[in-house]
Amino acid sequence: MLPSLHSVTPTGLQDQLKAWGEPVFRCNQVLDWLYRKRVGSLEEMYNCPKALRQRLGDAYRFALPRCQQVQGSADTTRKYLWRLEDGALVESVLIPANPALYGEASDRHTLCVSTQVGCAYGCRFCASGLDGWKRNLEVHEIVGQLLAIEIHCREELSEGQDRKVNNLVIMGMGEPMANYDNLMKALDIINAPWGCHIGARKITLSTSGLAPQIEQLASQPHQYRLAISLHGATDEVRSRIMPVNRKYPLPTLMQACESYVRAKGKMITFEYILIEGVNDGDDQIQPLARWAQQLHAKVNLIPYNHVEGLRWKRPDVATQETFLQGLLQLGVKATLRREKGHDIDAACGQLRLKVEREEHPQGHPS
Ligand code: SF4
Repeated sequence: MLPSLHSVTPTGLQDQLKAWGEPVFRCNQVLDWLYRKRVGSLEEMYNCPKALRQRLGDAYRFALPRCQQVQGSADTTRKYLWRLEDGALVESVLIPANPALYGEASDRHTLCVSTQVGCAYGCRFCASGLDGWKRNLEVHEIVGQLLAIEIHCREELSEGQDRKVNNLVIMGMGEPMANYDNLMKALDIINAPWGCHIGARKITLSTSGLAPQIEQLASQPHQYRLAISLHGATDEVRSRIMPVNRKYPLPTLMQACESYVRAKGKMITFEYILIEGVNDGDDQIQPLARWAQQLHAKVNLIPYNHVEGLRWKRPDVATQETFLQGLLQLGVKATLRREKGHDIDAACGQLRLKVEREEHPQGHPS
């Protein structure tokens, strides 16, 4: 199979263009079309000679994800379901900073992207892992989610606005750190001035707790933000809902987080989904506060989004508030998020699962 044009490095492209006898400036021209003007096809690169476009098309694949379905509207959280070249489905979620719910328009958006088709980690509350892991996303499939969203939203940009997405969170379907190499290459493109040019501080990587990869990230120069999907403050509770905790129990995970904080001098975030009767009790408040204080971490509480077919529930508002107040009283920096997109299958992996099950009612393609 041909390499994807959206995964080639500037050096690789430069070498290829040179081998074809093209002038040096062509490399920047092509990159500009791909990442700043964000074209949807080679034909749109109108100031590149036709013969060059032809050659590029013969040497590389131009393969952005195809939009299969969009849920939500322009001014609320929007979920995109993408069809990849092999027919696999993945999701991205575009989240406005201030949904128009309160009459406020906002032009700042966070995009949550996927890194795998399915997930092998099997967190008990999550739709993404329900049918297991299929494959890692390729570099261009990660970058492509961002580009395809920008293309899809082009008409919505106001004057002077050159992009829709301001922040990126790697928190969609899949365990990002389990696709470490492809993710890092994709982020190099997303972060680069010649690429999508989203600052490292505007990119947050999330993990369910893969300690070795956190250590690896700590040792590398990138300045990305780190979020840990914690969801349990004791090994007993966490192992019940996140099998990964048996491999990397909390002391191991926290040691890796410490390395990260020490190396980067950055605050990390603990994501904590509140699930009724599982991790929303008083017994979790103290240990969670201890971990947060030890790591100078911020805690982001997220009331659970119901997943069809799973028994877990969202705690009532009073319980959510009590949990939040308990942390605040212990001096922890904590927020309680009203999960946006509650009504559009926003929990990661739900839309894909629904469409796959409609398409394959007898079972799933392997
Ligand atoms: S929460 Fe993340 S790591 Fe866990 S099963 Fe879902 S996608 Fe995988």
